Amino acid sequence: MRYVYDFAEGSKENKELLGGKGAGLAEMTRLGLHVPPGFTVTTEACRAFMKDGTLPEGLWAQVSAAMARLEQATGRRLGGGGGIPLLVSVRSGAKFSMPGMMDTVLDLGINELVAKEIAEWAGSDRVAWDIYRRFTQMFGKVVLGAPGEAFEQFLAELRSRRGVEYDSELTADDLREATSRFNELIEATTGKSVPQEPMDQLRAAVEAVFSSWGNRRARDYRHIHGISEDLGTACNVQMMVFGDLGSDSGSGVAFTRDPSSGDATPYGDYLPDAQGEDVVAGIRNTLTLDQLSQLHPEIHAELLTVMKRLEADYRDMCDIEFTVEKEVLWILQTRVGKRTARAAVQLAIDMADEELIDRAEAVRRVDPASLEQLQRPRIDEQAKIEPLAVGVAASPGAAVGSVVFDADRAVELAGHGSRVILVRHETTPDDIHGMAAAQGILTSRGGKTSHAAVVARGMGKPAVTGAAKLEVDEAKGELKVGSTVVIEGDLLTIDGTSGAVYVGEVPLVDPVPAPELERLLSWADEFRALGVRANADTPNDAIRARAAGAEGIGLARTEHMFMGERLGIVQRIILSEDAADRSTALDALRRLQTEDFEGLLEAMDGLPVIVRLLDPPLHEFLPSRFELEQERRERAERGEAPDESLARLEVAVGRWEEHNPMLGLRGVRLGLIVPELYRIQVGAALEALRLRRQAGGDPRLEIMVPLVSTAEELRRVRDMIGEERTALFPDGEVDIPVGTMIELPRAALLAGDIARVADFFSFGTNDLTQTTYGLSRDDAERSFLPFFLEEGIYPNNPFQTIDEEGVGRLVEIGTLEGKAANPGLVVGLCGEHGGDPASIALCHRIGLDYVSCSPPRIPVARLAAAQAALGGSMASAST
Ligand code: PEP
Ligand code: MG
Repeated sequence: MRYVYDFAEGSKENKELLGGKGAGLAEMTRLGLHVPPGFTVTTEACRAFMKDGTLPEGLWAQVSAAMARLEQATGRRLGGGGGIPLLVSVRSGAKFSMPGMMDTVLDLGINELVAKEIAEWAGSDRVAWDIYRRFTQMFGKVVLGAPGEAFEQFLAELRSRRGVEYDSELTADDLREATSRFNELIEATTGKSVPQEPMDQLRAAVEAVFSSWGNRRARDYRHIHGISEDLGTACNVQMMVFGDLGSDSGSGVAFTRDPSSGDATPYGDYLPDAQGEDVVAGIRNTLTLDQLSQLHPEIHAELLTVMKRLEADYRDMCDIEFTVEKEVLWILQTRVGKRTARAAVQLAIDMADEELIDRAEAVRRVDPASLEQLQRPRIDEQAKIEPLAVGVAASPGAAVGSVVFDADRAVELAGHGSRVILVRHETTPDDIHGMAAAQGILTSRGGKTSHAAVVARGMGKPAVTGAAKLEVDEAKGELKVGSTVVIEGDLLTIDGTSGAVYVGEVPLVDPVPAPELERLLSWADEFRALGVRANADTPNDAIRARAAGAEGIGLARTEHMFMGERLGIVQRIILSEDAADRSTALDALRRLQTEDFEGLLEAMDGLPVIVRLLDPPLHEFLPSRFELEQERRERAERGEAPDESLARLEVAVGRWEEHNPMLGLRGVRLGLIVPELYRIQVGAALEALRLRRQAGGDPRLEIMVPLVSTAEELRRVRDMIGEERTALFPDGEVDIPVGTMIELPRAALLAGDIARVADFFSFGTNDLTQTTYGLSRDDAERSFLPFFLEEGIYPNNPFQTIDEEGVGRLVEIGTLEGKAANPGLVVGLCGEHGGDPASIALCHRIGLDYVSCSPPRIPVARLAAAQAALGGSMASAST
């Protein structure tokens, strides 16, 4: 079995076997770049080691042979004994980059004798002892398991004894003392000592690197990033070069383009007279590439050539680590560089324009989920301000405003031109107007799918939810965290991208320029098969969605059309015993709804608009029984006579009360029990259509019925719609497609039956998930769901990404059987999952016609749908 490959033997294609780092080193060697030679022990050896607990048979002979070849190639000698001594680095490197999760040992091969020879070669005792102390410290900690803090503590004491600030100011004698102290520390804490023999050091280091694949940190990282446990890490053994040999040496990191903006200018940091780890640790201010060009013009020019070469080879932005050793440039590592979402878009566009990649590849290169945050202003990360609290990043983007604790007050202040942040324990449908008026929403309770989160995302507003550290006192109008008190009017900044909450106004930075994003999305549109529509309830949302590329409205929820000031009218419809009064109220509501629908149809002129008939349980339109009882009691205490209408309300509330309203009289059931409600909605929608036509528009109205579980329910509503249509358009000159939500398991299982009376289906995967699992989302998120997710009992939150095996199966059955029974059936999905890339990929595979999502997620859906069609993405390349 072959376990060891020289760098000269592999290429970037061998990531699986050689790990990312090994493959990168092999590729650079193949390209003829100036890479310190070395070899890679394969991931296969690691897997064998993990299985048996020892290095596999024959491995060590191969390593010894590779070491001999390395001595030959470098002309340096392991263990010294004349000439320049050979020291090596021993680094982990798995197929996927797992930054800092596994172990590394540098400067391996040093001992007393070698240290002397290095001192001679480098012309400095200090350099030799610094290397020796670094090695002892790293080997002690990583391989022998000595406590790392003890080393740092000793160095800190030493610095303070010498009255210096940095390790670099310690003398050779200081470092010699540190080395010997470290050795004592290691023996005292581990009972082991650092081997003097370099091959013994190497063996222990290789084993330590392999073992680090299984450490806690690495396992957690893999769990979070979905990396398989079975891959194992490779181990790279490479000749050390030294950046700390004086002013003609140094270390640096560089990106072939700017990883933050995506600009096509190389970006880098260089630190003279330093080892690589010093650059990352940020102990001294680094120089820019321009400054490097003044210091060492030839090195700078060579570095630029290397970067060009790598970019042309990888056809992507690369990052590299390099060292200058006595005016000689060495490239130590390369990989495809991490980037911000903004840079990812810019890079993809530029590289396609430069014909480095084709458009399909450009579309694959950007993580769809990152697009949502791109459209909103963000906190300037340079600002580095301590947050007051951190909650759930519920709806991306940042907002600044003065704090209000009440929805009405939010509307009032916003009306006077103030920017406000609405702060609540949690929001309810009663707060909608305040949320609409606010710049952003902050709650102390609730998760990513709480009311505040869902509504804020729908409105495209930043929101932070569940910031549990906030003690919110809505009545008093203040919030507290420890001793910090914020009252109405004080400025607050929230960052819905990170979940952070800041006191005062934090500087914001602009989102990615729209033209670049739009270009990428227009390419995506050429590849995708799925349509993309919007969940939008207001003309403003519809206009925004259309501008973002929505091809119609997949779901217009009509609930809010019954809220706010209209609630009184609705209550009259439900409660009034006087037929005339009832009919006046019905007319009033119908007129108002007509205007609503006209606005939607106008904003989406020429594109389908699916109006969903009323869904929530009736009791939501009535006051709470608790409030009514309290009011009655207060009246009695004040000695006032009982209020008759109040009493009637109380009776009605009692009559409609349910134990499980979400499983009760809602959706089509309510529509059949109180038929006027649906009738006025349908009448209003048809009237809006008529008015839009009269105005010369091209309205494309479709009507959708919620919570259907039997074909008969839909048939009855369909008949009613037919009657209303005939009443308004007696000549039958309009075609209004009528469809249904599929959001109950029974509806999915009987899709064939239902499809015979439906023109379209739209999967309501919010309810379908609730009813398939038999849980209520809000309750679950407040009680057991976080625990289930943390413990891995549920692999993902099924309200964010469709549970493919369960809910996904129902979507598949519903789609296939629905289309089989009615070949003209149009099938979409309008639950929250419609904006989730993994769920969109599933919709593509099943063969849905479109997905529908909130306006800010339209770009996400366009890109994800294209990637689904292209089969796979490079989303993992971006951060
Ligand atoms: C659904 O259930 O997925 C849906 C879109 O309807 P709502 O969220 O309004 O219940
Ligand atoms: Mg629903």
